[in-house]
Amino acid sequence: MSKIRFHALQELSNRQPLEVTTPSDKLSDYFGCNVFNRKRMQEYLPKEAFNAVMEAIDKGSPISREMADLIANGMKSWAKSKNATHYTHWFQPLTDGTAEKHDGFIEFGTDGCDVIERFSGKLLVQQEPDASSFPNGGIRNTFEARGYTAWDVSSPAFIVDQTLCIPTIFISYTGEALDYKTPLLKALSAVDKAATKVCQLFDRNISKVYANLGWEQEYFLVDLALYNARPDICLTGRTLMGHSSAKDQQLEDHYFGSIPPRVTSFMKELEMECHKLGIPVKTRHNEVAPNQFELAPIFENVNLANDHNQLVMDIMKRIARKHKFVVLLHEKPYEGVNGSGKHNNWSLCTNTGINLFAPGKNPKGNMLFLTFLANVLMMVYKNQDLLRASITNAGNCYRLGANEAPPAILSIFLGRELSYTLDEIVKNTDTSSLTSKERTTMKLGIERIPEILLDTTDRNRTSPFAFTGNRFEFRAVGSSANCAAPMIAINAAMAHQLNSFKKEVDSLTEKGIGKEDAIMRTLKETIRASEPIRFEGDGYSEQWVKEAEKRGLSNISHVPQSLMHYADTQAKEVFLKEKIFNETELQSRLEVELEKYTMKVQIESRVLGDLAINHIVPTAVKYQNRLLKNLMGLKEIFPEEEYEVMSADRKELVKDISKRVTAIKVLVREMINARKVANQITSHKDKAFAYEETVKPYLDKIRDHIDHLEMEIDDEIWPLPKYRELLFTK
Ligand code: ADP
Ligand code: MG
Repeated sequence: MSKIRFHALQELSNRQPLEVTTPSDKLSDYFGCNVFNRKRMQEYLPKEAFNAVMEAIDKGSPISREMADLIANGMKSWAKSKNATHYTHWFQPLTDGTAEKHDGFIEFGTDGCDVIERFSGKLLVQQEPDASSFPNGGIRNTFEARGYTAWDVSSPAFIVDQTLCIPTIFISYTGEALDYKTPLLKALSAVDKAATKVCQLFDRNISKVYANLGWEQEYFLVDLALYNARPDICLTGRTLMGHSSAKDQQLEDHYFGSIPPRVTSFMKELEMECHKLGIPVKTRHNEVAPNQFELAPIFENVNLANDHNQLVMDIMKRIARKHKFVVLLHEKPYEGVNGSGKHNNWSLCTNTGINLFAPGKNPKGNMLFLTFLANVLMMVYKNQDLLRASITNAGNCYRLGANEAPPAILSIFLGRELSYTLDEIVKNTDTSSLTSKERTTMKLGIERIPEILLDTTDRNRTSPFAFTGNRFEFRAVGSSANCAAPMIAINAAMAHQLNSFKKEVDSLTEKGIGKEDAIMRTLKETIRASEPIRFEGDGYSEQWVKEAEKRGLSNISHVPQSLMHYADTQAKEVFLKEKIFNETELQSRLEVELEKYTMKVQIESRVLGDLAINHIVPTAVKYQNRLLKNLMGLKEIFPEEEYEVMSADRKELVKDISKRVTAIKVLVREMINARKVANQITSHKDKAFAYEETVKPYLDKIRDHIDHLEMEIDDEIWPLPKYRELLFTK
């Protein structure tokens, strides 16, 4: 009998939900109590220091050393009042925000209680962590080994586990970005500048544009004991084998069903901790797959929302442990059931309170809305490959293009009516001039927009980039991703698109064309030219794949091929021109992603090889011997004719097991050889291609044999927890 698996099953049968009590019945009593927010700053900082921080947040003004000392002092007093003993610069290196997330928390000094005493302005503002093991794509090999962290004033400090955490950027000695936050802040600033200029064509009062992000985090929970009995989940975050359960999500009875008590108590504690950290989590529910759930906050500005998501991914893991669960943030932990995504709801909003993705209250407002809408269409159309590259990773590739997730083709859903209105607006394809009749039709069309948008029932869940009434929802993002990756690409590309739109309008007005006409013409042309990216139908269908090909849209599910577009001509046009990255930074990012991919496939291949040879094959042989013994016994007792009848099926089984055991051994040997060959390659690109094309295919081939064996072998001796156990234990 398989000891580990049955021990695990026994252990979890005794689990009880933990008691969770909030500090107060009123959320406002403890919301943000672990955050050094404006209210606390006012309380703990001298007025001049408080003003210096506000200036820095609102206008980006630098903070002097003298002020930094005052701020550090106030922050320290507050942290000590909350019993904090340590402080750390908290940053987001280019590792995944998941398993390696803890690397981000660097402890300075180990001498316990007095560490925080030495906290000065200098230590608040800048640090020089020895962080040579973080991915850098060669930047720090060629230049300097040192990396610097610097305070990001726009994201408030907070306390976790008695440690004061200061959100920071992470850069090399020579100033190259080594993290997600640095380019994100640059992209947000670029989109602010570009969008503000476009807004000013309509409204001179607009002087700033903020980008907002509302993420929806999907995840799986698995019982701790079962998790520990599955080396593949422990080491790779997903199951590398496992026959599908007779029942999984066919009945869709988990979706929005009642949440199991142990899970409810986990969620309750998670929400409480989030609220203490000022993270406005709001919704929780079951997702489509068994044991799959979702958590979503109220949207915030992109930088803060992303810090909050990173923090949540970390906190949820720790709280899950307390409840004897493990959180799986992998995009596809189980074959055959839905994977996990992280929808990124994105919008742009002005300092005057206008949501640029919502129709206005008057025709002028509608023009503004339409302008931004059209520019999003063009942005996605021109940057399909960049957007895809920004969300491509080793896990997400099992989700994209599979049955439940958007395909590896980018398209935008607007809703039938809105799409129809756009078509009406651009019906006359001649954009060189506008007759007064055309102008009237266009205006009428634009005026109808708010009416159309009242009907929000028109939603399409199969679109990778959907307009949902007042925001765009990028659904192709994977659950383990750092949202900064897609947000850098989207906001940088949007900045670039808005700049070229503005340039076009300007060039027309310079020719003497009136401003309104110039805008209308450019708008018309933008809508017309971006038409192929609009798709209202079923994004998961076979027809769409064919249709998209006809339209010339790209469809790339080859991981390294997709990643290469992060630094292709169009990506460079965006990133270099908008000054998000320099050439070195861009190349280094690509290398980091390629290398990460190679390493993940390499680890999966090693783990599968080990499990196949050391767990599965011996179990199969053991069972085969039992069958053989049984056959010999039958042969001894029964007359020849009867024996032949009785033994037929068992002989077949012995043969099949034998065939599969041999196949597994051969395939594992071939896979190891493929790895050896790939490992000889020095270029990151060629190596990643080799892993994708020559190593990865073995994962499925080997798995297929193992999954068949799982169906054939006695349940009592099967060593690994099965899908029905992983997915259905509460
Ligand atoms: P659904 O599952 O239907 O997509 P949810 O309510 O789960 O919707 O998630 C919607 C997300 O979109 C939330 O995070 C919400 O805060 C966010 N959101 C709502 N309005 C905006 C907006 N204008 N800009 C950005 N995000 C938004
Ligand atoms: Mg959504």
